[in-house]
Amino acid sequence: MKILVQKFGGTSVATPEARRQVIEKIINARKQGYRLVVVVSAMGRQGAPYATDTLKGLLEASGTNVSPREMDLILSCGEIISGTVLTGSLQAAGFKAIFLTGAQAGIITDNRFGNATIRRVDPGRILSHLEEDKIVVVAGFQGITEDGEITTIGRGGSDTTAAALGVALDAEAVEIYTDVDGIKTADPRIVSDARTLDTVTYNEICQLAHEGARVVHPRAVEIAMQKNIPLKIKCTFNDEPGTVVTGAGVFKEGGATILNGRVITGITQIPGLTQLRINTGALEDKSLQVKMLKALARANISIDFINISPEAMVFTVKDEVSSRAVRIIEDMKIPVAVKKGCAKVAVVGAGMTGVPGVMANIVEALADEGIEILESADSYTTIWCLVEEAKMEKAVQALHRKFNLGK
Ligand code: ADP
Ligand code: MG
Repeated sequence: MKILVQKFGGTSVATPEARRQVIEKIINARKQGYRLVVVVSAMGRQGAPYATDTLKGLLEASGTNVSPREMDLILSCGEIISGTVLTGSLQAAGFKAIFLTGAQAGIITDNRFGNATIRRVDPGRILSHLEEDKIVVVAGFQGITEDGEITTIGRGGSDTTAAALGVALDAEAVEIYTDVDGIKTADPRIVSDARTLDTVTYNEICQLAHEGARVVHPRAVEIAMQKNIPLKIKCTFNDEPGTVVTGAGVFKEGGATILNGRVITGITQIPGLTQLRINTGALEDKSLQVKMLKALARANISIDFINISPEAMVFTVKDEVSSRAVRIIEDMKIPVAVKKGCAKVAVVGAGMTGVPGVMANIVEALADEGIEILESADSYTTIWCLVEEAKMEKAVQALHRKFNLGK
């Protein structure tokens, strides 16, 4: 059985016209002889009536003590709505189709409500419907625990559902349909001449996704990679070839995979960060540093971009937890300088290892625009700079220009 998994994101299922285009994609795949599993997200983005954020708001409006279990139940409704509507349209158009919730589709997760991890997939039910030649529509972003509780699996979860089903069903490919032509050299909302990449490696896209290119979720890439299932990122609203993500590449010293000798793959950004700076040189009791890091960890506050020197410890937290973090630190009588409204801009390229001049180009590009680098860090494949959020877009555009990534 030749199986294809297609995933359609929020904008792809938001309107009747968009859903007509989805059905076109489904019909095309059927014509090519595929048995089809179609994973859907909830309809539309923030503000739309059945979007995930709207459902969340409905319950949040009733108070702050809502249990995560009930929250997951309401969150799981968005995909049930979009999935049944799409399945209804397929049936009305004369196709044999069936809709399954994550639970009915055999998506088994752990019990961390709101951010559960898929443990395994029991594909029996999907396979038997595929054998009956039905199109199987599955609610993304949700699953069920071993003891029968409904869970959701976090942001970008439908991508992860699609990848997990691709692996479990040994699909020929997983196609992620969205509102852009594929993976681009930068977020097209920021860089108008961003170029669509025709092929990228799992490594490259994983890096891009981790650094903020939300076009596909990094967890989905990691899952697809385990079984070498090709991922294809395509647009629901046109017939462009999109981006193919595979394991192909050249192995290079340092462990980085490169494709066609590409040094820089793309530029990404993560807004909404607060930089905290502690003048550790002035602390009498040095053990406070470790106590503070442990206290933050206990409070479930994840820190990033940490830089430690004999004089200072600098790190970032997300804006939404910054006041909580500052309270914890100040309660320990540690003076802390707080800079809200920062953004992390990253230059990502699996081929940059050992290539001289990348950092010089970054510093020059930002300096030419009068953008101050508040902090920086680097790895084999990525160079990060923290900048003021107000200058983030300008920074991304400047870096994109500097590395000639445009069309
Ligand atoms: P969906 O609802 O289909 O899952 P998402 O909003 O999760 O859609 O992802 C698609 C969006 O990702 C695009 O509209 C685009 O603005 C954004 N994006 C960010 N970085 C990139 C990039 N490098 N390439 C393509 N799209 C990107
Ligand atoms: Mg998405």
